Amino acid sequence: MTIKILPLEESEEPPGSYALACSPSFASAVPARFPAISRAKAFRSRYFPDASIVEWNDWQWQLKNRVTTVSQLEKFVRLTDNERQALQRHSSTLPFAITPYYASLISPDNPKDPVRRAVVPVVNELMVSSGEAHDPLGEDSHTPVPGLVHRYPDRVLFLVTDYCSNYCRYCTRSRMVGRRKSHSPARWQKAIAYIAANPEIRDVLLSGGDPLTMADEQLDWLLTRLRQIPHVEMIRIGTKAPMVLPQRITPELVAMLKKHHPLWMSIHCTHPDELTEEATKACAMLADAGIPLGSQTVLLSGINDSLDTMRQLMHGLVKTRVKPYYLYQCDPIIGSAHFRTPVSKGLEIYQGLRGHTSGYAVPNYVIDAPGGGGKIPLIPETVVGREGNDLLLRNYEGKVYRYPDIIGAASRAS
Ligand code: SF4
Repeated sequence: MTIKILPLEESEEPPGSYALACSPSFASAVPARFPAISRAKAFRSRYFPDASIVEWNDWQWQLKNRVTTVSQLEKFVRLTDNERQALQRHSSTLPFAITPYYASLISPDNPKDPVRRAVVPVVNELMVSSGEAHDPLGEDSHTPVPGLVHRYPDRVLFLVTDYCSNYCRYCTRSRMVGRRKSHSPARWQKAIAYIAANPEIRDVLLSGGDPLTMADEQLDWLLTRLRQIPHVEMIRIGTKAPMVLPQRITPELVAMLKKHHPLWMSIHCTHPDELTEEATKACAMLADAGIPLGSQTVLLSGINDSLDTMRQLMHGLVKTRVKPYYLYQCDPIIGSAHFRTPVSKGLEIYQGLRGHTSGYAVPNYVIDAPGGGGKIPLIPETVVGREGNDLLLRNYEGKVYRYPDIIGAASRAS
């Protein structure tokens, strides 16, 4: 079957260049949407005294003023020797960048602060451990056209940008994010043509990099093109913006996204400290626009690997109208050993949630199988045996119950 992509009313070319969203020229009349938050106000007055509240609440101002050097970071944070050394040596690996907003969440004195550990490098990141790889999920070998990963039969991962507002130190795509050279409108066109030519693709996940660092016009162009392909039933956007750059969720963005339903969003959340008033408001705006929100969290040693922290995060997400979706075992990228926990820790946390709290607050715990095997769920043993027709099942309290399994009855009847 040949799918004809109808021309847009305006230009065939994607609007602007790739650098549009990364070369901020912020509008002069941005509404001050988070005016009364004292933490942000105190941080802004102390470290950005010349910035108005309007500028602080402008996502492009946030991008323009990202913290990207040791000397900038040292203004806010008392760095350890380990962190300073890592920052001085990190140039050939994953870039370093933090929005002023996210910097305002970091503890200046505590190097174990979870938010700080998620974005400030340490020297362990430069060490290679057994089993680690640049591309542990084998994405590059499932890439039929540049920027498009086709690993599952009916869905694709469309890497629309390699730019992020913050760079998470445990990023699965640390091999490619922040390079600012591998994605371009010409690539988007090829990826869209591939999707159009493969009618089995019904689900497209826009990711990167963070798609919400792109300009509204660019996203609108991409979404419009994808919506013109009849077999694309579902579009998802994977983003960390509501947690690291909530200012990005503007009324204009939301109004544009609403045009492209059914549109879903997967929000990357790491720790309950990210669930600020600003993040909550950003999620509320997206939820009010009818966008179903799910979360993705990576299990990280010393950051969120306790039942108490994970429970707070999952409960906070549900209150924020985000359904906890995936809890990922950390991928074995190069230099990730200090972030990875034993699988038994993840199972223990999962077991502490399942049955002990609302099912809506329990994410699927998965390993994305190295080599491209896809997501494999990890579930504690619940079927503990069989006695005759009865299945023996262990509940969340460890008690065993019987279920009269229909298989035995059916085989007797036949
Ligand atoms: S926001 Fe996502 S893509 Fe960007 S650095 Fe973090 S994990 Fe990687």
